[in-house]
Amino acid sequence: NGFAKMGLAPELLAAVADLGFTQPTPVQVQAIGQAMQGEGAGADAFIDLMVSSQTGSGKTAAFLLPVLHTLLANKAAQSKQPAAGPRRNPMNPRHFKAATPGALILCPTRELAQQVAHDAIDLVKHCKGLRIANVVGGMPYQMQLQKLQNADLVVATPGRLLDLQRSQQIKLDQVQFLVVDEADRMLDLGFADDLAEVHQLTANRHQTMMFSATFAPRIQQLAARVMRDAKRIQV
Ligand code: AMP
Repeated sequence: NGFAKMGLAPELLAAVADLGFTQPTPVQVQAIGQAMQGEGAGADAFIDLMVSSQTGSGKTAAFLLPVLHTLLANKAAQSKQPAAGPRRNPMNPRHFKAATPGALILCPTRELAQQVAHDAIDLVKHCKGLRIANVVGGMPYQMQLQKLQNADLVVATPGRLLDLQRSQQIKLDQVQFLVVDEADRMLDLGFADDLAEVHQLTANRHQTMMFSATFAPRIQQLAARVMRDAKRIQV
């Protein structure tokens, strides 16, 4: 299996095998390879990526696998420390705690966000304690909030995410990885300012990855607002 030599966690390799993926696609080789150079070498070792790739290229796993790998490594490091505080009942308003995900994936539409969250759930099925939450408009609020509180990775549309941030249901200062999927459609749908706001709120981020069908000038302008010295990957 061509994924095995990339250094990914065994739990993720097992999920990849279950899905029947035998060889990483070109965008996966590039994005995973780049991210694995950062892992273990500290926050500064991660570099921002600007990736032009089409749907069908395997781009979703290209950003999910390295992000999940690092979240898993962080979890393993944390679990060696003593557990903090009593258990909380997420339905009890007095036990309320804002969500503090370590990774955030922004998608232009609810359908795409649901698809990406679905793919993420497939990939974490052998990972103990890695939680995925989906935050999109038009879904029952309470249901989303319950899942959100302990989420490690949040897949969201920008509008609903910022609503939750403003009402202090979610804090973005622990986000290490920010992924912007289908950046070109984000712009078409008028999300440029929302993206800039999310970018500001994730000031402790180690890496931003932006995916787009093209590197058109307007995408490059957006990239300049949310990334620094991004490496370009074209597949
Ligand atoms: P995407 O470009 O992320 O929309 O992925 C397109 C399709 O390719 C999805 O159905 C994935 O499950 C599948 N896929 C992703 N990576 C691989 C791989 N390495 N080998 C085979 N199929 C893959």
